[in-house]
Amino acid sequence: MTSFQETSMRFVLACLSVTSALALGANALAQQAAPKPVANGPLTEQQAASGQFRQVDQGTSIKAGAEPHFAAARKAAGNDFPGLLLLCNQARPEALRWALPSAKVLRQGPLQEGEKPRPAKLFDNLYYLGAPNVSAYAIDTSDGIILIDTLNNGKEAEDVIAGGLRQLGLDPARIKHVIITHGHGDHYGGAAWLQKTYHPSVWMSDLDWTLSPTTLDKPYFDPAPPRDKVITDGQVLKLGQQSVTMHFTPGHTQGTVSLIFSVSDHGKPHKVALLGGTGFNFPHSPLRFAQYAATMGHFADLARKAGANVILSNHPENDLVVAKSIAITRRKAGEPNALVAGVGGVQRYFTTLNQCALAYGEQMK
Ligand SMILES: [Zn+2]
Repeated sequence: MTSFQETSMRFVLACLSVTSALALGANALAQQAAPKPVANGPLTEQQAASGQFRQVDQGTSIKAGAEPHFAAARKAAGNDFPGLLLLCNQARPEALRWALPSAKVLRQGPLQEGEKPRPAKLFDNLYYLGAPNVSAYAIDTSDGIILIDTLNNGKEAEDVIAGGLRQLGLDPARIKHVIITHGHGDHYGGAAWLQKTYHPSVWMSDLDWTLSPTTLDKPYFDPAPPRDKVITDGQVLKLGQQSVTMHFTPGHTQGTVSLIFSVSDHGKPHKVALLGGTGFNFPHSPLRFAQYAATMGHFADLARKAGANVILSNHPENDLVVAKSIAITRRKAGEPNALVAGVGGVQRYFTTLNQCALAYGEQMK
């Protein structure tokens, strides 16, 4: 076990000790799975994105075809990805058995109540800029900054992204490119302010440029910026010596884009796979879950071929980036970077999601 794993295990155990496992599981289920009333008939992308997605077989037993996939997901996740198991739990009436910490706990890591995630340097050239429910990242290059996602709105872009970069000693006016992973408001909401203020190129897939004006479903989202650069599958964005490869990964939305790029830790090279869309807040159908599962397999292959040994998400409960950023900031000389999961660890992340999606698909049959 690395020191981070020990810390995070102690943290999870501490959570479990203060509340009974059953009550904590119930809390997790209530926070994650409480369905809003929905009209009969298929949901639109917009209804699903706003959380009105239908629970798969809520309140019924797990089907025989799904059980092996749930078991495989649990095995692949081990103790490393509790947030992914929480996602997987949404379909499971016996979720209580797993007794996981709530998404709120996972998002905040070891922060005190009311404390905000702090901007942090994760690698020599990669910075974390997070709101409590969603993350943005900045890649620093000799020719400027590539920003990945923009949080919920212009105020967060100004305070958390621009303010955070300044705190970290970087000038936000150097942002040259903004990559938006997909067309939901928590990822594009700050883009219009950034575009107006620093005039970067803003990149999104064609499908999600089209989707984005229709997903203003939360009062705290700002509207998407005007359509700018269109990402093609496998396109490489270059700035200075840095390359970011952008891959189509349909499932979460049809135009979700995921990224592979290089970082270094005290000069030692590592490769990041950043999954652009994770949640199951899309219209549920066996076909859509099959597409999502296939995408996880496809992106896992790309990540493996690239040698990706770091996994990042744009939601902090998935990659535990808040807790890990604190561990990275506080580590002593020679201690490993908490985000380096190894090639096998990155593959297990995708296996967990692949198997969860297959399980959901089986539940729907
Ligand atoms: Zn989304």
